[in-house]
Amino acid sequence: MTSRSSGILLGYSLFILSLLLISCSSSEEFSGFSYDPEGVTVTTDKEIQPQHKRRIGVDGGSIWASNEFAGARMSDFYQVNDTLYRVVIEPENHPINNSPWYAFKIWSDTNKTIDLQLKYKHGKHRYIPKLSNNGNQWRPIDTTKVRTDTTTGTATFELKVSAEPLWIAAQELLTWHSYRRWADSLASQHWVTLDTVGYSHQQRPIVKMNITQTEKDQSRGVLIITGRLHPPEVTGALASQIFINELTADTPLASQFRSEFEVWAYPFANPDGVQQGHWRHNAGGVDLNRDWKSFNQPETKAIRDDLAQIKDDTLRKVYYGIDFHSTDENIFYPINREIDTFPDDFTFHWIDSLKKAFPDYPVEVEAFDTSSPITKNWIYHTFGADGVTYELNDRANRDSLRTVTQKSARIIMRQLLDEKKKRKKPTK
Ligand SMILES: [Zn+2]
Repeated sequence: MTSRSSGILLGYSLFILSLLLISCSSSEEFSGFSYDPEGVTVTTDKEIQPQHKRRIGVDGGSIWASNEFAGARMSDFYQVNDTLYRVVIEPENHPINNSPWYAFKIWSDTNKTIDLQLKYKHGKHRYIPKLSNNGNQWRPIDTTKVRTDTTTGTATFELKVSAEPLWIAAQELLTWHSYRRWADSLASQHWVTLDTVGYSHQQRPIVKMNITQTEKDQSRGVLIITGRLHPPEVTGALASQIFINELTADTPLASQFRSEFEVWAYPFANPDGVQQGHWRHNAGGVDLNRDWKSFNQPETKAIRDDLAQIKDDTLRKVYYGIDFHSTDENIFYPINREIDTFPDDFTFHWIDSLKKAFPDYPVEVEAFDTSSPITKNWIYHTFGADGVTYELNDRANRDSLRTVTQKSARIIMRQLLDEKKKRKKPTK
């Protein structure tokens, strides 16, 4: 090879390399994940369709349906033929992610067996109907009896209705009152304090739970927890509560953890969306987990401003962030291994331990870079800390969800304690 041709080759290689670098550049603006609707990163207020709260009687006023409770979503109810009745469910606005939440009550003057159809506007059936006689205890419907039509997106099932109202919802109802009850019961322990860090669009408090047993002037690690940014993601919400229950438990591990760490938790980050039975958004019509760059929404702003206090705090160092969600599988989204975080690759290490503990439990892992405007990426960009988006399957068995999440919490506490020990300077 002559020096001239190798020179041309070198120039050509550099040209290709620079093309590759341009196409891989992270400076390209993030515009949404594959499942996101267009415009998801525009987080200024969008118009929402208020839900008309009412009870609707059909069949000469003999069968009734109602959305007059917190967390409900039902847009219309009517009789199609002798046996078929249809509930229409519309989102708060659209385009929107396909998380078609529904919740309503139904009753009848006389005992009857009917066919009930769920019909969605701007979405397709996703959540297995859960039934309840009191709004507190829920049982999933037998899925073999639910007939779904993938073209129209409807789901139809047989239902026995009577004078006693039957609650039907996409998932267990976990609304403001149950959160408040849970938070208050934890706060009876002296290592848990509650605080209001701001207010939602509709003036509901954004509650922060602080968990620690550190001394006043003691340096401590910080674990950040966020949850329920997306209203229908109830399995993620259940997991966040189980996880926090472990951190606040009266056990040797948890109390050791609390003597070295402080937890800043915001487990109910979208109270308006939950109370209004939204599919995805807050009362500003925005996906709150795409607002962690622009901060146009009061809920994300409140949490950011509260956490920002830690930035120059010499006593507090953020070690980790966990953001709880749900999707159609158990999946953890860590930060790419190529990106240096503190502690580095923390997520991968605890997932390895979790998989060893539950070799048969299905858990997927998919790492991402930190370009998207989501909670964990803001934590990384602000504090350099590692973080994870912790997604539970919508259909997760609630007992195994509990067992696995308790174990996760214990592994994470142990690993965080180890990481903190590594950092401790030897005393002179
Ligand atoms: Zn989510």
